Amino acid sequence: MLTDSFGRLHDNLRISVTDRCNIRCFYCMPEHDVRFVPRAEILDFEEIERFVRIAVTLGVSKLRVTGGEPLVRRDLPLLIRRLASVPGIHDLALTTNGVLLPDLAAPLYEAGLRRIAGEIRKTARRVNALQQVVIPGIWSQISAIQQALDQQEQEDVFRLKRIKGKIARSLAPL
Ligand code: SF4
Repeated sequence: MLTDSFGRLHDNLRISVTDRCNIRCFYCMPEHDVRFVPRAEILDFEEIERFVRIAVTLGVSKLRVTGGEPLVRRDLPLLIRRLASVPGIHDLALTTNGVLLPDLAAPLYEAGLRRIAGEIRKTARRVNALQQVVIPGIWSQISAIQQALDQQEQEDVFRLKRIKGKIARSLAPL
């Protein structure tokens, strides 16, 4: 079993399938001198599956596929299919920025993916085209979260306007 120095059991494994991304968030990718891992050093799908099968013997039962942006890894649904069929894996999730989700959600679902995580606002809008047909159940949850976020955003805007008004009044010349 995988335990840390505090005796905690670790059953969750994150697998980064690429260090590339189709977005450049300033806090993640610097503007210059980004050094990507050479292709030859990146594990292929067979190697990742083998690693996961070994990890399962050590108590791992949950996987999260990440990047960079995992959806830019070519043929990702093939890897998802391999991982979803590993005995002992009970939870398989994917973290994504959602850009490629409209094209890939259906093959990913078909390959066995049932959980996605990511930047909800962007993801919700991009999943819009697919609706409940492709990922039953997930859309309604994302929609509810989106509505709550929109409401919160509106309240924040009103609050900001009130604060700005107060500041403007307090700075007004006497
Ligand atoms: S979408 Fe994610 S991986 Fe891509 S640049 Fe932004 S934070 Fe980094």
